[in-house]
Amino acid sequence: MNVSSRVQNVTASLTLAITAKAKKMKQDGVDVIGFGSGEPDFDTPPNIKKAAVDSIDKGFTKYTPATGMDSLKEEICKKFERDNNLSYKSSDVVVSCGAKHSLYNIFQVICDRGDEVIIPSPYWLSYPEMVRLAEGTPVFLETSQADKFKISIDNLKKAVTKKTKALILNSPSNPTGCLYGEKELRLIAEVALEYGFLVISDEIYEKIIFENKKYTSIASLNKDIFSNTIVVNGVSKSFSMTGWRIGFLASPDNKIISCIKNLQSHSTSNPTSISQVAALEAIKGGDSFVEEMVREFATRRDFIVDRINSIDGLSCVKPEGAFYVFCSIDKKGLDSMVLAQRLLDEAKVAVVPGKAFGSDRHIRLSFATSMDNIKNGMDRIEEWFERL
Ligand code: PMP
Repeated sequence: MNVSSRVQNVTASLTLAITAKAKKMKQDGVDVIGFGSGEPDFDTPPNIKKAAVDSIDKGFTKYTPATGMDSLKEEICKKFERDNNLSYKSSDVVVSCGAKHSLYNIFQVICDRGDEVIIPSPYWLSYPEMVRLAEGTPVFLETSQADKFKISIDNLKKAVTKKTKALILNSPSNPTGCLYGEKELRLIAEVALEYGFLVISDEIYEKIIFENKKYTSIASLNKDIFSNTIVVNGVSKSFSMTGWRIGFLASPDNKIISCIKNLQSHSTSNPTSISQVAALEAIKGGDSFVEEMVREFATRRDFIVDRINSIDGLSCVKPEGAFYVFCSIDKKGLDSMVLAQRLLDEAKVAVVPGKAFGSDRHIRLSFATSMDNIKNGMDRIEEWFERL
């Protein structure tokens, strides 16, 4: 059977692959410590689960409008106003089956064959694949650990061509934890407006930031960049709801929104009715759950960063947001695939090779796992490096 050329070169998600292998080893009785997780290790709050159960009991189990229920979209608009100083109308919002689906819709709608999308590297591994699936061309903009993985404005300008359609901005970033401040965002916005490309702002880790840093959405900086940005967010990370599959996007550009609506109406239709009710409860309920989670993440972050930087052969910058440490393995001369494989086989520790995110000189460790696991896992990594 010949499959389409579009999907032939799509690679399997390496993060999922490593997590699956570690899970399988665990099932087989091997004592593996996993640093691969891409989701909070907290249960979804009980009030959110209850709202979903109630909605089932009440028979709210049928189709909703394809782009999401009006009440949820109105609540999302209030969230944007409250948290981000962004004024959208309900009709500017599309609710989808996770932020991943929102992003997928965007690339399908904005890219023609050969259109270029600038992706700061290291990047979340699904961006290039989604761009390619839309027949677009990913253009990687390299950043370095020395610059805390932030893009240089000069390099951004150099990456722009006549075919540039958009820049993906992911702050805080998976995998690097880098968080852009207002001044930096202003400079990026100026370039986007001067050269005329869209900004796709993936704000999924917005609420997981440390040291009371202020979160700024690039779309909030002025009217022009507001019109020129598609904001993507969701409930997966902030409310520990990865399995519920609710994400959303917003843009005041009627054309983009109406095309996304049409596309979604012929692909998934509405996201799950029950999950929408749960998401409404989550967003209405405010931030006390995520604040508690962030306090716990902050303690783990401080611990893991200190341990990594005390190991000869490893180094990392302190992530300012999200729950990952992107750790340089430069000194030992091993590439990230070999290192991750050997750590799993020999130290029984699962990490994700940086190659999946565009850097073969790094590994990604998630601290969305218990403090005990982190301590134990770091002991194993340290011993393994000492033996190397
Ligand atoms: N963007 C980034 C940067 C992510 O890390 C993830 C999840 N790993 C997503 C989007 C997708 O999130 P969702 O579960 O809402 O699809």
